[in-house]
Amino acid sequence: MPDVYADVIIDISARRLDRSFQYRVPEALRGEVETGSVVEIPFGAGDRAVRGYVTGISGEPLVAPEKIKDISKVLTGGGDADANLVWLAGWMRRRYGSSMSQALRTVFPVKRKVTARQERYLLPAADEETLRQALGELTRKHAAARARVLDAVIRDGKLPWSLAADRLNMTAKVAAALEKAGLVRIVTGDPDGEKAQTPGDDRRVELNAGQRHALEVISAGWAEDPPGRYLLHGVTGSGKTEVYMALAEACIARGRQAIVLIPEIALTYQTVMRFSRRFGDGVAVMNSRLSEGERYAHMERARRGEVKVMVGPRSALFAPFPNLGLIVVDEEHEPAYESETSPRYSAREVAFARGEREKALVVLGSATPSVKAYHMAKHGALKLVTLPERAGGAAMPEVSIVDMRRELREGNRSIISRRLYDELSLVLKQGRQAMLFINRRGYAGFLCCRSCGKVITCPHCDVSMTQHRDGRLVCHYCGHTQGPVRACPFCGSAHIGTFRAGTEQIEEEVQRLFPQARTLRMDLDSTRGKEGHARILSAFAEHEADILIGTQMIVKGHDFPDVTLMGILAADLSLHVADYRAAERTFQLLTQAAGRAGRADAPGRVVIQTYDPEHYAVTAAAAQDYEAFYEEELTYREMGGYPPAGTLTAIHVSCPDRELLEKACGYLAMFIREKIPCRGLTVLGPTDEAVAKIQDIYRKVIYIKHADRAAMTAVIGMIGRYIDANEGFAPLTVTVEAD
Ligand code: ADP
Ligand code: ZN
Ligand code: ZN
Repeated sequence: MPDVYADVIIDISARRLDRSFQYRVPEALRGEVETGSVVEIPFGAGDRAVRGYVTGISGEPLVAPEKIKDISKVLTGGGDADANLVWLAGWMRRRYGSSMSQALRTVFPVKRKVTARQERYLLPAADEETLRQALGELTRKHAAARARVLDAVIRDGKLPWSLAADRLNMTAKVAAALEKAGLVRIVTGDPDGEKAQTPGDDRRVELNAGQRHALEVISAGWAEDPPGRYLLHGVTGSGKTEVYMALAEACIARGRQAIVLIPEIALTYQTVMRFSRRFGDGVAVMNSRLSEGERYAHMERARRGEVKVMVGPRSALFAPFPNLGLIVVDEEHEPAYESETSPRYSAREVAFARGEREKALVVLGSATPSVKAYHMAKHGALKLVTLPERAGGAAMPEVSIVDMRRELREGNRSIISRRLYDELSLVLKQGRQAMLFINRRGYAGFLCCRSCGKVITCPHCDVSMTQHRDGRLVCHYCGHTQGPVRACPFCGSAHIGTFRAGTEQIEEEVQRLFPQARTLRMDLDSTRGKEGHARILSAFAEHEADILIGTQMIVKGHDFPDVTLMGILAADLSLHVADYRAAERTFQLLTQAAGRAGRADAPGRVVIQTYDPEHYAVTAAAAQDYEAFYEEELTYREMGGYPPAGTLTAIHVSCPDRELLEKACGYLAMFIREKIPCRGLTVLGPTDEAVAKIQDIYRKVIYIKHADRAAMTAVIGMIGRYIDANEGFAPLTVTVEAD
C-alpha cells in the first residue's frame, strides 16, 4: 500500500513556523486524517508533542521518505467545520498573498478561557400596566433614550446592560434615572442562570409583495448547484432587514445556520435588536465589547449548534457552524468589510468562497451597492433582486443642490449658503431639528479652486494630487511630482488652496449666525472617552439641541424623528481623495445622508453644498438615481483600467528604516517589472503612501494592474514567493491588498 502524507501547519501560536511540514499518516489513522483535522505530531529534535492543522493530503513525499515522521494521533476529526475553515484559510492565503499562519489566525479565534465578566441586567421593577403608563409619559416628554430602554425591558423582561449600551445607546445616567423612578431594577449576574430563555418576539410584519418575491427568488437558490448568490438592492427603509430575517428563519427550518454581517455594531443597533427579538437565544452577537474569551465562547456555542444566527462585523464570517446555509452581508458597500491587516481580505469575497464550499446562499444587500457588486449583477455573477419602495410608505426627501462658486461670486464668503441659512431659520422657528454633515472622509490636502471648483489632478492617473508641507504636489498612485501652485491653472483665480473647514469652524459659524440655537458637535474629538458617542446621540435624540454638526458618524443608522433638514457641506470633498473609488464613496455618503431626513410623517429637506454641482456623483445622489451613477462611473473605470474593468493590487510595504524601505521597494518593483513573465501587467510606483509615515514607520506602495484576475492571482503568488525567499525583506512588513 503506498504511503499517504499530510501537510501539517504547527499550531498557530508558534508564529515563526509559517510553513507546512510533511508527516506520514500511519495505516491505523487512514481515513481519519483529513484536511482540517487537528493532530498531534512529534516535532523538532526532541520529538516534542505539538498540535498541528492538516492543510492537505498527498501521496508524494517531498523529502526522503525515511526522514518523514508519523502523525501520533488525531485530536479532532476533519470533515467538520474546522476542515472548511482550514480550506478557507488556504483560499485566503492564495487570494491575498498572506502567510498561512496569518490566515489561520484570522479564521480561528484565540482560544481563551472565558473570564467571566459579570454582566449586569435591567429587570422590570413594577407591573406591566405601570410600566406602560410610564412609557407613554416618557414618550410624551420626548425622553427618547429612557423610553427606548424601558420599552425593551417591557418587551424582553430582562435586558443585558451591554446589549442596551451597544444597541440602545443607553448611558449610565439613563439607567440610573429609570432605577430611581422605580421602573427597573439593576442586578449583577444573570438572574435566570446560564440557560435563560429569552423568547423570540412573535409580533412581526406581514411581508409586502416585493419582499415576498425577494424571499421566493432567493430561497430558490438552495436548490441550485452552485448555490445562489444575490444582490438585494433597495433604498433605506425598503424592508431589506425583514427579508434577511425571513431568510434566516427559512434557513433554520432546514436545519442549517446563518451568518449576518453588519458593518459596525454601534451604528446599527436597531438592526441587531430586531434580530435579538426575533431569534431570542438562538442569536449571538459579536460586538466589540466582548473579551476574547467571550468571543471564543460564542464561537464554541456556534460549533455545537446552540447558536443558529451569528450577527456581527466581518469576523463573524468565521463562525464554525456545522451546517452553514446562509450568509448575509448587509450594507455590503461599506469599507469596514475590508480588513486592513494581513490577510487584507474582503468579507464579500470570502463570503462567496465560503458559500460555494459549504453550499450556502450568499446575499449582499445595500441601498447603494458597490460598483463591483452591481457590475457582477449586470454580468450574471449575482442575481439582482430589487425592492423599489419604502415599506413604511414615508416619502423621499426633497433635495436641492447649491453651487458654492456662485455663493462666492455673489459675495457670500460664509461656509453656510444663503439657501441653507433660510432652511435652518425655518427649522428653528418650527422647533424641529437639523443635522449638518461635513464630508471629510479620507481627507487629504488636495488643491481646489474656490472660483471655478476645479481640482489639480495627476496628468497620468486622473486622481487628485496631494499637497505636501513644502508646497509640492504629489500623485499617490504613480509618484508624479510638480512644484507649488499659486493660481488656478484653469481660470487664473488666486482663491486656490486646500479645504480646511472642520466641524469646529462650522459650529462657530452656526453660533454666529444663529446665537439662539443649541448646537452639538460629533467628531473624533468630541466622542473620545467612554460613552462619548452614545451621550451625544441620546442628548440629540432627547432634543437637548437643535442642530447636530458632525462627520460621517452622524450619517449612519440613527433615527431622529424630529430631524427635517439635512445640510451637507463640502459634498464634493471626498471626490478628490486620491483613490479611484472616490466618486463611489461620495455617491454613497451623499445618498445615505440625504436618506436621513424625512423618515417620519414630516417630509424632509436636504441641501447639498458643492463646488462641483454638475458632477454625476452629486446629481445622481440628489436624484437618488443609482443606475445613472453606475453608468457614468463604469465609463470612468473602463477608461482608467480600474476595477471592475480590470484588477488592481496594492503592495504595501512599511519599515522604520527609510533607506532600507526604499531599497527593498526598488528591488521589488524591478522584480515585478522585469522578472515576472506576464504580458499586460502595469506597474506603478513605488511611491509614498498618502500618509507616508505613521508613528515613525515609513510606508510605501506599489500598484499593479492587469485586465485578468487569474493572471493577477498568479502574479501575487510569485511576489509572495520572491519576498519569502529573500532574507532582506525580513525587517519589512509587506501586505497585499487585492481589489
Ligand atoms: P431596510 O433594511 O431596507 O432599511 P427595514 O427592514 O429596516 O428596511 O424596514 C424599514 C421599516 O419598515 C421598519 O420599521 C420595518 O419594521 C418596516 N417594514 C418593513 N417591512 C414592512 C412590511 N412588510 N409592512 C410594514 N412595515 C414594514
Ligand atoms: Zn479656477
Ligand atoms: Zn499619477
